[in-house]
Amino acid sequence: MSDRKLIKVRCWNSPACGRVYSWLAPLDSWELLIACPFCHEEALIRLAPHVRPDHVVMAGGDLPPLALEVLDLPDELPSEPRPPEEA
Ligand SMILES: [Zn+2]
Repeated sequence: MSDRKLIKVRCWNSPACGRVYSWLAPLDSWELLIACPFCHEEALIRLAPHVRPDHVVMAGGDLPPLALEVLDLPDELPSEPRPPEEA
């Protein structure tokens, strides 16, 4: 069972939506996908930029196992549109 953490996400769909919502996120991936509960647009949330600076993350390489203690999450996480599926 993976860790879950209550995070706040700001919808990227601004100005149409742009609202902030809370989500008990399953921290089992460095990139989380969720649909905004207000406008239902799918959003991508990247955790890798929020790793504590004393934990080195190899750019483009294998990431270490995701653990809550290496994350330094802001009160409010930005999101971005879900990228198209890779062919
Ligand atoms: Zn939204």
